[in-house]
Amino acid sequence: MRDNWRGIWLVLSTSVRTSPRLALLSLTETMSKLLTAAAPLFIGIFAAGAIDRDSRRMLIAGLALVGSTALNNVLQTIGTNARVALMEQVGFSFDVKIAELTARIPTLEHLERADYLDRLQILRDRDGILGSTLNALINTANSLVYAVSILLVAVSADWRLLILVALGVPRLLATRWSMRWGTVAEEQSAAPSRLSAHLIDLTTSAGAGAETRVFGLQRELQRRVRAAATAWQAPGVRASVQNAGLAAATAILFFGSAIALLAWMTHDALAGSVSVQSLVVAFGVVGGLERVSGIVSFAVQDVARVTRYISRFLWLRDHAASVAGAHDGQLEPPDRLESGIRLEGVSFRYAGADKDSITDVTLDAPAGSVVALVGENGAGKSTLVKLLAGLYQPTRGRILIDGIDLAEYDLTAWRSRMSGAFQDYAAFEFIAREVVGIGELERLGDEARIRQALYDGAAEDVLPSLPDGLSTQLGTTWAGGVDLSGGQGQRLAISRGMMRSRPLLLILDEPTSALDAATEHNLFERYAAAAREAVGRGAVTLLVTHRFSTVAAADLVVVLDQGRVVEAGRHPDLLAKGGHYAALYNLQARGYR
Ligand code: ADP
Ligand code: MG
Repeated sequence: MRDNWRGIWLVLSTSVRTSPRLALLSLTETMSKLLTAAAPLFIGIFAAGAIDRDSRRMLIAGLALVGSTALNNVLQTIGTNARVALMEQVGFSFDVKIAELTARIPTLEHLERADYLDRLQILRDRDGILGSTLNALINTANSLVYAVSILLVAVSADWRLLILVALGVPRLLATRWSMRWGTVAEEQSAAPSRLSAHLIDLTTSAGAGAETRVFGLQRELQRRVRAAATAWQAPGVRASVQNAGLAAATAILFFGSAIALLAWMTHDALAGSVSVQSLVVAFGVVGGLERVSGIVSFAVQDVARVTRYISRFLWLRDHAASVAGAHDGQLEPPDRLESGIRLEGVSFRYAGADKDSITDVTLDAPAGSVVALVGENGAGKSTLVKLLAGLYQPTRGRILIDGIDLAEYDLTAWRSRMSGAFQDYAAFEFIAREVVGIGELERLGDEARIRQALYDGAAEDVLPSLPDGLSTQLGTTWAGGVDLSGGQGQRLAISRGMMRSRPLLLILDEPTSALDAATEHNLFERYAAAAREAVGRGAVTLLVTHRFSTVAAADLVVVLDQGRVVEAGRHPDLLAKGGHYAALYNLQARGYR
């Protein structure tokens, strides 16, 4: 409940902050509701005046009716326009906030966990949905003003009209079911909606285009898109049908009673115990009274909808804050590493996974060393890399940087002292210069530095193949944009990793998987040079690779198998030992022979 008020307060305060003027103008619509409710009263006075042949009363009531209708129109137009404009601005301001919050969260869990993604999807799915919550709140306020005014007009005519209001109570109670149906439908839709978006992406993206055609998957994908779309829409359709049935039942109950009540009042009016004015007002307010229960129940539903959407936003905000709170280390990383990086009994399990991806890993990477991490696919190498980058926190154990827990360091500061290329590198569709330069934002415009990074990443030959050199737009979906080959994209990603000037940890996670042997050799020579240069800083270089020519040159080889360290040592010693490493090595050597 407290969260609901927090949500409503958030929408209102954001609106007032976004545009105080529009917020004020939106209120004119609320005033127009008062005039709408008063109309039956004017008609009643006019009718009574006509019967009494009282022209003064008729004139006043007639002018009031016409004048209030005109004023009503003006107020309503101003209010509606102001509201729509404000709604768009507020929606946009929330969209920006959602993007900011999502991007600012320093870890990745919210982008990987299915239940988190579903919640994010609801926020992302509905562009500007949080702006429409403002709309709902204003509608609610207007409706309540109208409801109260029409009730007062009705009671002033005849207390029996309250019976009609009482008939709205079953309808209000039914609203609870209808709301529950709505929530259930929304939640059931989230996963299929995400699936269908993904499938449509697949069918329209160039990336998957080759495979979908070669494997003849188009029909199958279309079938799945249709199935997902049906699964996504079905819950909403079901909820609508249920709601329509409910609305019909309550309407029959109301109008049946209204007809009986008006007949009773007409009988009394003929007998003289009810005035003509009251009878006319009663006929005039029936429609309004019917709407009252509907209006109030809509208002309740609307506010519930508002708080539901807002609660997801609040969840995102709270999640961002709690992640930031969990990473509140303040320590600046040292200028140079003295002892190095040590993993102490580190285990890690992805959220929702049923087993650890890293189990009890203890490992010493002395300052200035080059460590090679080897192991089969799925052994946990990339996971270990991400733990070192602080993208996840170990489930158990600690990662020590010069003897101090990584958690105690300021995560942003630590990341500014590490660099590398990740296996699932991002294909930024920016200008080529930026694609590399963003590896060190402060030097985004430093062309000499960017060229050096391209050289270090063995990517200097990518440039001549780009039509505008460093100014080439990447990504064919943009005007004049070009696509890179896998190897070129990978080398630009490596070059990006080479932009940092003084990293303490250089991570290269299978950086060369898409490269030929000669390029890889070339690249590694440059790594080795960079690593030697980094020794003075005590920097640790962590290489993940399948190529043993590269591994052999490392100071320490660590063999991972199913998340555990099974062997660690120097290449010749491990070979001599004839264990896991030797088996992997011989397998590859046989392939080459
Ligand atoms: P490697 O890099 O050695 O090939 P990974 O570290 O990528 O291995 O994966 C190790 C294990 O963790 C695998 O079993 C993989 O399926 C699992 N895994 C990797 N990423 C995720 C994730 N985001 N969520 C759940 N499980 C994951
Ligand atoms: Mg990997």
